[in-house]
Amino acid sequence: MVLKTLQLKGFKSFANKTTIHFDGGITGIIGPNGSGKSNLTEAIRWVMGEQSPKSLRGDNMQDVIFGGSDARPPLNQAEVVLQFDNRDRQLKYDHDEVQITRRLFRTGESDFLINNHKVRLKDIVSLFLDSGLGKHSMAIISQGNVEAIFNSKPKDRRFIIEQPAGVAGFKEKKKQAQQQLEQTDDNLKRVSDIVHELA
Ligand code: ATP
Repeated sequence: MVLKTLQLKGFKSFANKTTIHFDGGITGIIGPNGSGKSNLTEAIRWVMGEQSPKSLRGDNMQDVIFGGSDARPPLNQAEVVLQFDNRDRQLKYDHDEVQITRRLFRTGESDFLINNHKVRLKDIVSLFLDSGLGKHSMAIISQGNVEAIFNSKPKDRRFIIEQPAGVAGFKEKKKQAQQQLEQTDDNLKRVSDIVHELA
């Protein structure tokens, strides 16, 4: 699986539609302080399902929408699109190309799309978890992360390794299955109460 393009429109400092092509090998992004380098990695994390505004350096999620500058007024919508070459099927989606889109409106409404089909945020998160590329994976290492890994406890380090190994996806599925079991258990108790009352 190879990331081919990143497209932003109205995301943080990228008011205009901006497309970055990754042509294989190593891509270096350089620019002066405050030019938007970190905003690009945040855009990637956001479209992959990041749900914490704080980890995107905001107070609420709407802070990712272009907030205006001296030259232009704020926008009402942020959109980020990632396009992957998925010929190796590392993403469990049976298409050679996979395009993930996330949109957020100032009203708070969101859209999540896989290959232009509306899905839930959960679907995008589990697509990446299954590929070992969850939001906690080491695919994206932010400033300060390296030091944090060196100083982390063995249990936290195990969590870091579990992400690329794909274990995190199974853990998430186990959690969901346990929640369903608990709900089914509650339903059974309720049915048994009703049966008891009718007997
Ligand atoms: P450094 O090299 O210092 O780490 P950088 O190139 O990584 O900087 P970023 O931190 O990505 O730069 O970008 C910061 C810029 O993005 C600031 O100028 C900030 O005003 C702008 N910015 C952040 N959020 C928004 C927003 N919602 N609307 C408009 N501009 C924004």
